[in-house]
Amino acid sequence: MEFDFDLFVIGGGSGGVRAARVAAGGGAKVGLAEESRMGGTCVIRGCVPKKLMVFASSYTGAMSEAEDYGWEVSMGDFDWTKFSTRLNGELDRLEGIYQNLLKNSGVEAFLSRATVVDAHTVALADGTKKTAKHILIATGGRPVRPNESFDTNLAMVSDDIFHMDALPKSMLIVGGGFIACEFACIMHGLGVDVTLFYRGDQILRGFDDEARGLIADMMKARGIDLRVGTNVEDMQKADGGVQVKATDGTEALFEKVLYATGRAPNTDGLGLENVDVELGRGGAITVDEYSQTGQPSIYAIGDVTNRVNLTPVAIREGMAFVETVFNGNPTPVDHDLIPAAVFTQPELGTVGMSEEEASKAGPVDIYSTSFKPMQQSFIGREDRVLMKLVVCKNTDVVLGCHIVAPAAGEMIQLAGIAVKMKATKAQFDQVCAVHPTMSEELVTMKAPVRSA
Ligand code: NDP
Repeated sequence: MEFDFDLFVIGGGSGGVRAARVAAGGGAKVGLAEESRMGGTCVIRGCVPKKLMVFASSYTGAMSEAEDYGWEVSMGDFDWTKFSTRLNGELDRLEGIYQNLLKNSGVEAFLSRATVVDAHTVALADGTKKTAKHILIATGGRPVRPNESFDTNLAMVSDDIFHMDALPKSMLIVGGGFIACEFACIMHGLGVDVTLFYRGDQILRGFDDEARGLIADMMKARGIDLRVGTNVEDMQKADGGVQVKATDGTEALFEKVLYATGRAPNTDGLGLENVDVELGRGGAITVDEYSQTGQPSIYAIGDVTNRVNLTPVAIREGMAFVETVFNGNPTPVDHDLIPAAVFTQPELGTVGMSEEEASKAGPVDIYSTSFKPMQQSFIGREDRVLMKLVVCKNTDVVLGCHIVAPAAGEMIQLAGIAVKMKATKAQFDQVCAVHPTMSEELVTMKAPVRSA
């Protein structure tokens, strides 16, 4: 059977664009449809603009520290309009790069929504149909508001943050995951009065307890009103913002409210009922280790499959898909020991098992040290950092590494190599310390602080 394309990709985010480009580079005829902006969540409304906001927000602390170091600093207000104009320019530039990458690799791009008609056909918004030997669904996810008895549309979600006309004076953030904690720190750094409600007993559920505890302490110490065991009971539109009644009995007016209560895979209205593609929890596409769905010609990668929802993982899934389908080399995606960072202030860098997870699996030794870093200690700050290794008692293999510190995201990328290589604690110790640094503690912790 003749097809219009060897591959048709639905979704122009990091995973979809990479798969399309690499397949086309190998000689395949590739089409790609994107209904919004090329670049997807990471580039347009996620990691990239978020990280630029992290940079913007970090200058408050840096300037106040500079003052204590002897600099004469005059700190004015943050100019949101200036920043967001530059930010939008940068996103336009990056979108252009993505468009060019596709064009230069010979991918035919359609700026349109696409839906699945059958195992080898997609329909574009104008009704045009395109056939393909393989279809790759890479439609990502979207932030969701919970179903409540009140109107949660009064609140923003993370997509809206980048389009605010002005910076609010006060903001309530609901949730305790990556996005809630990152934006709490960003907004606080930009001068917004931030309150965070988290329904559980500690933010960043699933991460190492000691690390999440330190981040919570640091967020509170910096002035974020972090309230655990608290949720929104009611919210109403009011003069100057949103009037919020909390489950802890308090009531307050916030200029803006942000719901950061999770994301859902973009599978609604995709036409998947027309094919043998199964949806799992929350509407995520069920795939095997090769990202293949129950319909042999249809594959899915990235957040729409809700495996590990991180950009580099989606990219790897895209590359593995191309290797499997177009290079005749079946390549499963390795989802084990993926390093990650939460861009709070201080950051959390993490790879492998938390102490709690590892101690359930077997006996472990915990090497952990929390201390005032030299740079802040010198000026009398109370900031603390954490360097922690979770080590298997039987094999001496480092099962997990958790860092809470400025630039922990940078550090964990490197520590992640050793952990992925299954380095032992003895091998960590064979490495000479880089002095004076915070991370030298990772190779100088002599005795476990506890065993579990
Ligand atoms: P998460 O799943 O990480 O966090 C959702 C939070 O909302 C949890 O604290 C959850 O509480 C809470 N929550 C859920 N439902 C409700 C509700 N009805 N009422 C109140 N609270 C609720 O989602 P995020 O949106 O923060 O992030 C989504 C994903 O995006 C992440 O898991 C990550 O994969 C990715 N991401 C990665 C980043 C990075 O790499 N730095 C940055 C941002 C996002 P509970 O814990 O009780 O379930």
